[in-house]
Amino acid sequence: ALHQVPDISVPRYVRVNTLKLDVDSALLELQKKYSVQKDNLLPDLLILPPGTDLHDHPLVKNGSIFLQVLDACAAPGNKTVHLAALMKRKGKIIACELQKERIKRLKDTIKLSGASNIQVLNDDFLNLNPKDPSYSKVKAILLDPSCSGSGTAASRLDHLLPSKAAGQDADMERLNKLATFQRKALQHALLFPAVERIVYSTCSINQIENEDVIKSVLPIAESNGFQLAKPFPGWECRGLPVFEGSECLVRTDPAKHGEGFFIALFTRKDANFSGRS
Ligand code: SAM
Repeated sequence: ALHQVPDISVPRYVRVNTLKLDVDSALLELQKKYSVQKDNLLPDLLILPPGTDLHDHPLVKNGSIFLQVLDACAAPGNKTVHLAALMKRKGKIIACELQKERIKRLKDTIKLSGASNIQVLNDDFLNLNPKDPSYSKVKAILLDPSCSGSGTAASRLDHLLPSKAAGQDADMERLNKLATFQRKALQHALLFPAVERIVYSTCSINQIENEDVIKSVLPIAESNGFQLAKPFPGWECRGLPVFEGSECLVRTDPAKHGEGFFIALFTRKDANFSGRS
């Protein structure tokens, strides 16, 4: 995303990489040149005017800040290194990626972030055995699977949209395939024995990739001791009202917020829940 033309209507959100720099120092540094505000919701997020071009800023080049959240889905590893910052060098992160050709990019992102507790795994997440002892301490899973990207500003996505000639049937087929994978991956995440938190996120606005995935997996999740939690309770834009509990889900609305994202958070108190069924 670093080399795309910024969508001028959307503020430039910047996440400070707190592994390298504290938020107030970043604020002071950026204020020398820009008008900067802190975000009310996320403590490590700064808001700059729409169209601010930070690509050559020294803080970006040395890895102290990452362009974040609303701008993040194009760069593999962005959320991995965000997790690393949130974990403050403690613990370990396993970063699994199926596509061999995307591994280099992931490793580059990690290197740049300064994090040293990330293990890169070139594998299919669906093939990881949840019972393998190497995952017995995994407490949280971030699942940000391949999606249609339909919530992403068109100016940043043109190369990913199916050709118009492909038509609606092809679009539907592609969405169904994506949703099938998303559902399988979420079900797989539920099987890791010590997991207490699962975040499912997409940069899609399609119900089929968002609420429908959560709705279909919810009974299995509940039978494994998970429930839907309600992150950012003060945030008004919630899941489409297609099942009971969908108000727990978080959406951003492209019309209001510039881009369309979706987040679901599953939590489980009892880490080694053995399952009721
Ligand atoms: N979380 C990333 C970030 O914030 O930078 C973006 C992730 S992108 C939406 C989805 C990634 O999942 C792609 O790189 C894709 O190659 C990978 N992927 C797709 N299927 C996979 C699978 N079965 N196992 C592991 N990775 C997979």
